Amino acid sequence: MTPAINHQWRLAARPNGLPKPSDWHFTSEAPPVPGPGAVLVQVLYLSLDPAMRGWMNEGKSYVPPVGIGEVMRALGLGRVVASNDPSLAVGDHVVGITGVQDYAVLPAKEATRIDPALAPLPTWLGVLGMPGMTAYFGLLDVGQPKPGETVVVSGAAGAVGGLVGQIAKLKGCRVIGIAGGADKCRYVVDELGFDGVIDYKAEDVRKGLRALAPKGVDVYFDNVGGDILDTVLAQLARGARIAICGAISQYNSTEGVKGPANYMSLLVNRARMQGFVVFDYAARYGEAARDIAGWIAEGKVKAREDVAVGLENFPATLLKLFKGENFGKLVLKVAD
Ligand code: NAP
Repeated sequence: MTPAINHQWRLAARPNGLPKPSDWHFTSEAPPVPGPGAVLVQVLYLSLDPAMRGWMNEGKSYVPPVGIGEVMRALGLGRVVASNDPSLAVGDHVVGITGVQDYAVLPAKEATRIDPALAPLPTWLGVLGMPGMTAYFGLLDVGQPKPGETVVVSGAAGAVGGLVGQIAKLKGCRVIGIAGGADKCRYVVDELGFDGVIDYKAEDVRKGLRALAPKGVDVYFDNVGGDILDTVLAQLARGARIAICGAISQYNSTEGVKGPANYMSLLVNRARMQGFVVFDYAARYGEAARDIAGWIAEGKVKAREDVAVGLENFPATLLKLFKGENFGKLVLKVAD
């Protein structure tokens, strides 16, 4: 049956600082019609990611910016409601770049089929999805942790950080998280099994690192950048590796990105700082998904999603990421 209406959030303006609801327009139109080799997907869940803030900016990045007037880019999970490709059938569940809307046309080769019997749908956007792949490859490939080493991760209660710490524990490391607020800090230690945590909103991070990582930091998985990156740089162990995953503290800055002053610590400690983009590991996602699914089945990895409801609530829900109001992977439920 052809759906009657497609609601969409389209980019209206490039934000200055924290986005405002008026930076998007809420529009409605007839749903798109899939051509040959494409499918029509009804979006059930949208993945809300810090990277979406960067996609709203003009200028060069690892993907082109969203154009003014275009549907806001987002990863989504949905159900195929019409198919013009033999590889996907009506009723299949897929993940792809659906955009922030009710219905999307996807080329079948860009829609990854998932099995809803194996895990709840939001988990496919969390530890079994893009954030899971980011944690896995960023830690293991870029951070290269070894048993007995001290791993520090910021954004520790978040989608990526929570999994980074759990994988580092599985690899025999001592794991220290950095997170904002008592509830998140309790969760990181009591639920996720980190060895220690620093509440950067209530404690001095430098003192916390000195107490919890007295021999220095061997691997730092950086989700936040800014002052916290600078502070960790000053506490490196010899031969340390820093994985630059993100810099959420800088995404809404109106004064430019704050760079680290303590970078000479890289020289003194023969250390390395390396950025990465998860999409470069696409050919190896299967390897990561098998490992992570196995760890979940064995009870060694916990997944947590923060589910908001209603496409109309997209702008306010996205802002939760930048206010630290999400607890685990933030997703928006769009339909049943
Ligand atoms: P998330 O951690 O689930 O949510 C964002 C969290 O960031 C918030 O809950 C908040 O936690 C923290 N935060 C917000 N503003 C902050 C600030 N000013 N200073 C310190 N912390 C702040 O998000 P995620 O999806 O897992 O993403 C984490 C990072 O990974 C982001 O930087 C993202 O851009 C990056 N990322 C990179 C790749 C890649 O390929 N390189 C892929 C995916 C994600 P608190 O309450 O603890 O402050």
